[in-house]
Amino acid sequence: MQFGKFRLSIIRECNFKLDGGAMFGVVPKTLWSKVSPSDELNRIPLSCNLLLIDTGSKKVLVETGMGTRWDKKETDRYEVETLVSPENVLAPLGLTNADVDAVIISHLHFDHAGGACRLVDGKLVPTFPRAKYFVQKGELHLAHNVNARGTGSYRKDDFMPLVEHGVITVINGDTEIVPGVFAKVTGGHTSHHQVVYFESEGKKGVYFADIIPTKSHISPPWVMGYDHFPLESCDVKSNWLTKAAKEKWLVVFDHEKGVPWGHVSLDEKGKFDFQALPAATLSSDAVFSS
Ligand SMILES: [Zn+2]
Repeated sequence: MQFGKFRLSIIRECNFKLDGGAMFGVVPKTLWSKVSPSDELNRIPLSCNLLLIDTGSKKVLVETGMGTRWDKKETDRYEVETLVSPENVLAPLGLTNADVDAVIISHLHFDHAGGACRLVDGKLVPTFPRAKYFVQKGELHLAHNVNARGTGSYRKDDFMPLVEHGVITVINGDTEIVPGVFAKVTGGHTSHHQVVYFESEGKKGVYFADIIPTKSHISPPWVMGYDHFPLESCDVKSNWLTKAAKEKWLVVFDHEKGVPWGHVSLDEKGKFDFQALPAATLSSDAVFSS
């Protein structure tokens, strides 16, 4: 999709499932199951939607997805259905992994950093060989020092090889990654979780990452049970959604299984609503199987 001077594409890296209760926190199942029905194991269907921002001079990939380094038990637990090959994540767009200049990872949970590295001859190497990977300093620190409550969401093999190969660019706070593409710290989900804000020729957009993972999470109090700071998430959502509605930003959801981009509106009662763009705006049906 053309966006000012930028070209935007969604790469659906995988479909997977997580526990519905964990995805909706304190929201009662009687409410969330109406908008996001669960399976017999109480799991809801999700996707990993990567966003490629081609600014004309640089190609910036937002997130890396789950990757394929999962054993049978884990694959079954999350019902991971991989949709792209780690050797050539961008093949359906006619690009190679080596075409990516920058990778922005919102936080280092396994469904965001799992695809950052891939196995070659038994060794882990960066999936995108020319790219700098942009990670918040506080998030990298947390990933190394997380306590028992958060430890199940991190795997050191997702990010340690990036450190060892010297491809991580540690950023500390809001940062312009390339002209017009910004990492902005939100906190909430983790202490240094970041979203990606982008603008070109007056058009503005945001990739919300795990602050708003699906369209069903648009209501500010509907925050995930996974969030380390749920009250903060609620306020962050209100603030960003208010701006997004007022200025008609493009919003992108990382785990939405339907069409993951569109616009938000705010009615007179203060309720946010999401209007997805037509499915035809997605760049490739081959990648974007739902
Ligand atoms: Zn997360």
